[in-house]
Amino acid sequence: MKAPTRIGILGGTFDPIHNGHLAIAEAARRCLGLDRVIFIPAGRPWLKARTLGQITDAEHRLAMVRLAIEGCPHFEASAMEVERPGLTYTVDTLAELRSREGGSPGQTAMYLILGMDSVRELHRWHEPQRLFEMCVVVAVSRPDTEDITASKFEQDFPATADRFRLFRGPLLNISATAVRKRVAEGRPIGDSVPAPVEQYIRYHGLYVQT
Ligand code: ATP
Repeated sequence: MKAPTRIGILGGTFDPIHNGHLAIAEAARRCLGLDRVIFIPAGRPWLKARTLGQITDAEHRLAMVRLAIEGCPHFEASAMEVERPGLTYTVDTLAELRSREGGSPGQTAMYLILGMDSVRELHRWHEPQRLFEMCVVVAVSRPDTEDITASKFEQDFPATADRFRLFRGPLLNISATAVRKRVAEGRPIGDSVPAPVEQYIRYHGLYVQT
């Protein structure tokens, strides 16, 4: 029988995408033997719905993701959340990917790559139990966030231990918030984002005001 295709999914606001995102995607790909990683910028992230006015237009965020992964054969960008009307729920994205990629878990194994700050918010997500039915959660350590323990995870999400992987990851101390702040202060960002993304930010005058 053919081995299932192993897909990594990295969702985020990507406002903007930065080297931390690229590093965790590549590290997870190698470590878990993923065939590819799909970067999916959020359209209207429901957890950030109250601050939506402050999020950069999806068109810019998607364009920066595309620039950042250009030439990376194992990475792909998807506009599926940006194009979906209404608020963004990851379970809907997983369901859509599942039907697009091959209906059964035997055909497609999905790995949702999440930074530790996002993992700590999982209990607030929409239908987390259904999410675990569809994917394995890969929890990536982040320098500014304490790792969640497997027992705490088991407590929050009983009987899902086999759907959870703790991954120490490359521990890059980069955040989109820090990138935006640096641009607003007129400081360089070349060590935090790929060069084409830096050029895009400058060309479109993004983040000049916080
Ligand atoms: P912001 O500073 O605006 O909150 P962010 O840098 O956390 O943004 P997001 O687009 O919100 O970027 O992140 C998408 C996903 O990548 C999330 O799961 C987040 O936890 C993870 N992530 C982002 N940066 C890192 C990093 N340096 N190390 C590990 N995970 C990260």
